[in-house]
Amino acid sequence: MYKVNSMIADEFISHDEILDTLEYAKQNAGNREIVNSIIEKASNCKGISHREAAILLECNDYEMIEKIYSLAREIKQKFYGNRIVMFAPLYLSNYCVNSCIYCPYHVKNKTISRKKLSQEDIRNEVMALQDMGHKRLALETGEHPVHSPIEYVLESIKTIYSIKNKNGAIRRVNVNIAATTVENYRKLKDAGIGTYILFQETYHKENYEKLHPHGPKSNYAYHTEAMDRAMQAGIDDVGIGVLFGLNTYKYDFTGLLMHAEHLEATYGVGPHTISVPRICPADDINTEDFKDAISDDVFQKIVAIIRIAVPYTGMIISTRESQKSREKVLALGVSQISGGSKTSVGGYAENERHEDNSEQFDVSDTRTLDEIVAWLLKLGYIPSFCTACYREGRTGDRFMSLVKKGQIANCCAPNALMTLQEYLQDYASAETKALGMRTIREQMGKIPNPAIKRRAIDFLDQILKGKRDFRF
Ligand code: SF4
Ligand code: SF4
Repeated sequence: MYKVNSMIADEFISHDEILDTLEYAKQNAGNREIVNSIIEKASNCKGISHREAAILLECNDYEMIEKIYSLAREIKQKFYGNRIVMFAPLYLSNYCVNSCIYCPYHVKNKTISRKKLSQEDIRNEVMALQDMGHKRLALETGEHPVHSPIEYVLESIKTIYSIKNKNGAIRRVNVNIAATTVENYRKLKDAGIGTYILFQETYHKENYEKLHPHGPKSNYAYHTEAMDRAMQAGIDDVGIGVLFGLNTYKYDFTGLLMHAEHLEATYGVGPHTISVPRICPADDINTEDFKDAISDDVFQKIVAIIRIAVPYTGMIISTRESQKSREKVLALGVSQISGGSKTSVGGYAENERHEDNSEQFDVSDTRTLDEIVAWLLKLGYIPSFCTACYREGRTGDRFMSLVKKGQIANCCAPNALMTLQEYLQDYASAETKALGMRTIREQMGKIPNPAIKRRAIDFLDQILKGKRDFRF
């Protein structure tokens, strides 16, 4: 039975409700009046239900799809402006006891090299990331009781926050580790993490169990209810996502939105972010084995409809996506991207030898962070290294209410410009610096609130004089 605020996975992600939704979508997607009324409702920027979103996803009417894209662009602009938040993944260890058949870290893969970073290695990785200009990390590790217990993760977070190298500092550590207990989530909260991220991979229970034949992750309910335990532990910024291509995309898209609705209905705050990774090649993984892999067109449609279905939720893509694909989805809704990423363990401090491969997936966008920053500036975006919200206590429902009232932009815009200024001073090439300085001059003129503008001008001036870490 479907119950949005149940604590039981099979009830808040009800298989029958998803099947009914997909059927309902098929019956209504050809009706322009219905599709138009959903687009009209979405234009109020208060979101739409999973049933309504499924109709839009099912709709193949070119004119309607163009309307959806146009609304997605409008909503993206309204809530996020032209700021794009930057981050990088940091892989701690690729030892894993699970058997996810789409991931090269699966326990049976004997061809990948297994590595785990010591605290000294982490220091070197973090200094290399700081020297690139990163301020925000997503911590990744395989699940292993001996190699990466919670104590190791906590110690690593402490190490990361403690390193101050020249003007470098990691100011926000988001954590993507396996589903765990309320007690461990409390420890992560106390360690000062930003967002807790966990991808569902697929919401289709039967396929989930086939894709995860052994190990703790094979427990569908424990995995699906992880965000509930995180919320109970006081982590109010959580990031969800599926790996598109593992299962039929319409099913997982619907499950993803039902998960978002469940969190909102139960805890009063929806997911902080939604990630939209697609299956991509890796060691021991052939994408041709996945018959449900999705095309670029479908991918863009998914991003656009998520944007209008949950306007307040940040959307993330990684370097799995190519430059071309990233450019398209940035306009349609993505608000956060990684740059200069290494998906190997220890890949930032030292280039990995080919025969030493420890990567989780092949990076498609291999440009440096500086090249990505310059590219974003040329496209008219403001690359932002902002980490202000959780450091100012703006998390969970407090954050969401500011977003819903449209007030967060008062903070995001100057914070983006100030953190960009820091980046330009400390790390940028001459070309990127010239592009960035021009953008800062232009964008400062657009800050509407005179008091905020005055303070931002003063902070920018202090950054030029060598001071760091100002925020609204
Ligand atoms: Fe392990 Fe995660 Fe890879 Fe699964 S997806 S094998 S849990 S690292
Ligand atoms: Fe994100 Fe908050 Fe910074 Fe805006 S002000 S970019 S919402 S951390």
